[in-house]
Amino acid sequence: MALATEVTQEATSVRFHVADMDCPSCLRKIQGHLLKVDGVLGAEGSPVARTLTVAVDPARVTAERVRQEVGRLGYVARPLDAGHRPPSAPSIWGGSQARIAYASAGLFAVAMLLRALGVVPVLFSLPFRTLLLPDVFLLSSALVGGWNFFPKGVRSARALALDMNFLMTIAILGAVAIGELTEAAAIAFLFSIAELLESYSVDRARASVEALMDLAPSRARILREGEEITIPAEEVVTGDLMLLRPGERLPADGVVEEGASAVDQSTITGESIPVDKTPGDTVFSGTINRSGFLRVRATRPASDSALARIVRLIEDAEADKSPTERFVERFARYYTPAVTVAAVLVMTISPLFLGGDFSVWFVRGLTLLVIACPCALVISTPVAVVSGVTAAARNGVLIKGGSYLEAMGGIKVVAMDKTGTLTMGHPRVVAVHPTGKLTEREALSRAAAIEAHSEHPIAKALVDAAREGGALDDSRSVTDFSAEFGSGARARLDGVEHVVGKPSLLVGAGPERDRAGELAVGGRTVVGLASEGEVLAWFALADEPREAAAAAVSALRAAGIRHIVMLTGDNQETADAIGESIGVDEVRAGLLPEEKVATIRALEAEHGPVAMVGDGVNDGPALAVATVGIAMGAAGSDAALETADIALMGDDLTRLPYLYRLSHRARNVIRGNIGMAILVKAVLAVGVPLGMVSLVTAVVVGDMGVSLAVTLNALRLGRAGAGEA
Ligand code: ADP
Ligand code: MG
Repeated sequence: MALATEVTQEATSVRFHVADMDCPSCLRKIQGHLLKVDGVLGAEGSPVARTLTVAVDPARVTAERVRQEVGRLGYVARPLDAGHRPPSAPSIWGGSQARIAYASAGLFAVAMLLRALGVVPVLFSLPFRTLLLPDVFLLSSALVGGWNFFPKGVRSARALALDMNFLMTIAILGAVAIGELTEAAAIAFLFSIAELLESYSVDRARASVEALMDLAPSRARILREGEEITIPAEEVVTGDLMLLRPGERLPADGVVEEGASAVDQSTITGESIPVDKTPGDTVFSGTINRSGFLRVRATRPASDSALARIVRLIEDAEADKSPTERFVERFARYYTPAVTVAAVLVMTISPLFLGGDFSVWFVRGLTLLVIACPCALVISTPVAVVSGVTAAARNGVLIKGGSYLEAMGGIKVVAMDKTGTLTMGHPRVVAVHPTGKLTEREALSRAAAIEAHSEHPIAKALVDAAREGGALDDSRSVTDFSAEFGSGARARLDGVEHVVGKPSLLVGAGPERDRAGELAVGGRTVVGLASEGEVLAWFALADEPREAAAAAVSALRAAGIRHIVMLTGDNQETADAIGESIGVDEVRAGLLPEEKVATIRALEAEHGPVAMVGDGVNDGPALAVATVGIAMGAAGSDAALETADIALMGDDLTRLPYLYRLSHRARNVIRGNIGMAILVKAVLAVGVPLGMVSLVTAVVVGDMGVSLAVTLNALRLGRAGAGEA
């Protein structure tokens, strides 16, 4: 998570839930204030989740001090422990804000009714004005409704922050001061209701994140000291044996110890087909045990489950601002003061110099102030980001920030790693060809002895083949092992230098290399064993393309991706055969890891933004340079979750076209919303001095209408299922 200031080593972070921090400008005000406190190193937060994370130097600032500082701005901050979730907000419609809005609206209605019925007795006369009975109700309506804004408005004024609370305070009190009681009451009650509607839509976005947490059950059945007991899920500790009947959800991540069952992992990976799980397999919190009885040993406490981490990443995703969002915040910083100045000019110029009627122009000025409220602009993007990111999470895709959601929607090229991404990543040795001296068994035995020290899937395949053929020999001495990253490995075997790896690592062009090329038919990978400059054997390995690979590639193309490239360190023949069967546009083979990085850069220069898809384990550098780095199979691999910008929780390639369509829509929604809000406000702002826009129109259309339209539009993203996005 990006923090506003450089974070030093001794920093610790404290988390709070801040009930009233429901608008990005409130967050900015709090951030600005906290950063001035000595010892506060950074502050980030989410107006949608209403959480605040503050990095502090514990020697100088305590959590309690932070809480007090936030309190000085009029917000109530409640500390959150790690892993603890913010309390669900009570229904907005019953809260104090709502009661104020209802009361204000009710008083306004009474005033209107009295007027309509002609019940307008004069209560008392002042030299400049007579006060009628309905006026008392209007005044009360304005002051009661205004109470939602006054306290915060005063604090904003003191902090020199021209936010909407300040603008509303000025507008309401100004209208009262010049005796425009109907206007004052209308602004007060309409804005109170607009605020409620806005909180409601933001809450909807938050509720979708909370629903994700509720996927994990609250109780767990475990075996302790031979006895079956039921405990709250958060009390499950590492090592507990969890018991699961068919239909039950897993309370924590773990490894199957006993039993066999199909487990529905759709909540985590988005894969709709249940996966067979037997002893030794990893299972995740929130997934459903479908068919059999399982005993699962917890490998992590529930608070640290994959699901819990996903939820935390989503909350942080909001703090990562997209370029559009940063643009809007910068825009609002100039726009609001500019319109405020314009409002003051409108109020004064005509009455002072052109003989205009003061109260007419004052109301026009107030109308501009209403339009100056930037909330519709700044709230729509976070709502879109939260809705989009949450919808993706429900479909097995974890997007780690608003900027990646937006960037993904503008991708032109998708580059995919071959091994483990387009193929299953479990190669098998299908043929051994000694070149003369050695038996097949001896060749395998030597290769396996070296490969036992390396992590590569090919190494694993050679070791497995040797084991199956009874050729695994532990008594061989392997010294000076070194991995040739992306091409092979070398070591001293029983004192003699040996190399295992791709043909180009072993020999230059020539008949021996040609032999390797001949073996690479039908997409087989060929690696060799050499010693003292002489090739001793070639091994042919087969790795199956993933079932969904071809379909995913054509769906990506249909969704609008112009160029799909396969990258691999494998040789050209092998890569071409696989590339052709999957249907990619281009194959780049024989790449060393650093060449993959250069290739990504070149693709980006030639075609535009590139998404790189890999397993996140040995292609980290390529994922890092791509515009968006996407890792697969992240549910089981912490490394993949960390390195990638976006993670596919399972190995399902069909998530890719889904992700692209969702991001593309999100990008359109975000940009469309901002365009619409700016346009509507600009048109209204021009109409105000011409007397074409009434105050009520400005409130209903220019603020409430725009806010609602953009947030509802943004919420639509959350509703998109896997199919439609
Ligand atoms: P990919 O790009 O397909 O993920 P890598 O970059 O990991 O592949 O490796 C590229 C090639 O280098 C492999 O196809 C293989 O020929 C060779 N190679 C890499 N590591 C090893 C190893 N440990 N043993 C044998 N060959 C290897
Ligand atoms: Mg790889």
